[in-house]
Amino acid sequence: MITGKNYIGNSLSAKGTQTYKTVNPKLNSDNEWDFTEATEAEVDEAAQKATEAFAVYKQKTDKERAAFLRAIAEEIEALGQEVIDAYTAESGLPEGRAMGERGRTIGQLNSFAALLEQGDWVQATIDHGDPERTPAPKPDLRKMQIAVGPVAVFGASNFPFAFSTAGGDTASALAAGCPVIVKSHPMHAGTGELVSSAIIKAAEKTGMPDGVFSNLNSKGITVGEQLVKHPAIKAVGFTGSIKAGTALTKLGAGRKEPIPVYAEMGSINPVVILPEALKANGESWAQKYAGSINLGAGQFCTNPGLILGIEGAELDTFGKHLAAALGQQPANCMLHPNIHSSYESGKQKMLDANGTEVLAVALEAEGANDGKPALVKVTADDFLANSELHTEVFGPFSMLVACASKAQLLEVLNTLEGQLTGSLIAEAAEVSAYTDVIDALRSRVGRILFNGVPTGVEVCPAMHHGGPFPSTSDAKFTSVGNDAIYRWVRPVSYQDWPQELLPDALKDGNPLGILRKVDGIYNKA
Ligand code: NAP
Repeated sequence: MITGKNYIGNSLSAKGTQTYKTVNPKLNSDNEWDFTEATEAEVDEAAQKATEAFAVYKQKTDKERAAFLRAIAEEIEALGQEVIDAYTAESGLPEGRAMGERGRTIGQLNSFAALLEQGDWVQATIDHGDPERTPAPKPDLRKMQIAVGPVAVFGASNFPFAFSTAGGDTASALAAGCPVIVKSHPMHAGTGELVSSAIIKAAEKTGMPDGVFSNLNSKGITVGEQLVKHPAIKAVGFTGSIKAGTALTKLGAGRKEPIPVYAEMGSINPVVILPEALKANGESWAQKYAGSINLGAGQFCTNPGLILGIEGAELDTFGKHLAAALGQQPANCMLHPNIHSSYESGKQKMLDANGTEVLAVALEAEGANDGKPALVKVTADDFLANSELHTEVFGPFSMLVACASKAQLLEVLNTLEGQLTGSLIAEAAEVSAYTDVIDALRSRVGRILFNGVPTGVEVCPAMHHGGPFPSTSDAKFTSVGNDAIYRWVRPVSYQDWPQELLPDALKDGNPLGILRKVDGIYNKA
């Protein structure tokens, strides 16, 4: 049942006076529930509880934390239809997407559990000492990763399950041994509360300390700012806009004790389509890209917002095919009236900008918050002259840029800001003539695709979902896949410690049976 209250550790709490409602964007009306915003005292209480919980939680073994994550997955599943109904009512996304995203969220939790059960993730490194070494004896050094402390997570609007309350940030932080305080996304506070109740149940069932998880309601920036500034918080996970992500990153860096804010922000995900690919398969690529641009009403951080090609008859034909295919796509309901109106005004700016030619723009839609797809074309000269054209329009929008030559294509790529993904569409025979283009594309992105569409982010260890600024605040880290855990840990070296006082991961004899780097060689001995 949705109560509208905050979870301060295991207790429901609503001491504040500010309340708000979520919106059903399909019906364009408020949902029934009232949510009470957390007060400063409740933020502080959650932070204190997280600090106390950390002292206990960090002592739990990997296997105990794995059991907690698996229990969260089970409890989310047990929420059944109620949470699916809340998700669809608060996001306008269809039930099929809700089910799929719930499955992904459960899969992420279980994959972090499996990582803990295997145990290698601590990156144990042992360099044995040598007392006989001259001129000075060599100390015995043993290094592993340990949890940093309580983490604040900002739920994302566009993934109410997979990048929110029990999403990748929370799962990876809990896996690392860090208590989590979620700043619930105001657009899906009811879904967030139900998922929080599942996490609390799982914590109680598996004997985790009170305060290992809290969920704070908030509409507006105050609660988020208080959390990031709170001395108990040691790192932050965020997914959302460049504006908010940059503000929070600065806030974290400006503290007396600076902390990292791992922000996943905007991206226009450039696609380079080479001449032979246009000739051979232009129409089929146009069909695929129309689907990718409009997928989920374009509300994905990997949405292909920029398509680059070399001008000529083939690029013109591709533009026509893409416009026609986009014209066949339905307008889908967007997440919230505000996101819909930002999309409409951002799109209009692009349609009105100097030099843009409108190739496709849907005018009709059934629902008030449906995002009507659009495609514009611009020359590279105009694109290079106006940096406004390089910005993200969050929704089913894309821009085709016609470059006069390969040299100008390179110039455009080298002008782009950092991106999550870049895609190359090419025939095998032409690739060797474009190695400089591929290198320029790779230098801008965290994931480079060959003959594919960037939407669809596989959750697996080799995924890197993070790119140079401003797509993320730190290109070295991913927010998807098991390596997301490394945002919440730091290495510590033990020097000359007796065996019995070392953590099991670093003891001779390897009692955990994990893969370790011993005197430079990886082994499980
Ligand atoms: P947002 O504006 O970035 O907000 C995300 C969260 O951060 C919200 O909980 C918000 O709180 C909080 N927040 C915003 N500004 C803050 C600040 N200065 N200090 C502290 N907290 C702050 O994102 P959104 O509401 O989810 O969507 C708005 C836009 O973000 C979209 O139209 C889109 O452009 C972009 N977006 C991008 C991605 C991506 O993956 N690239 C994903 C989602 C959204 P309040 O809402 O309570 O103010």
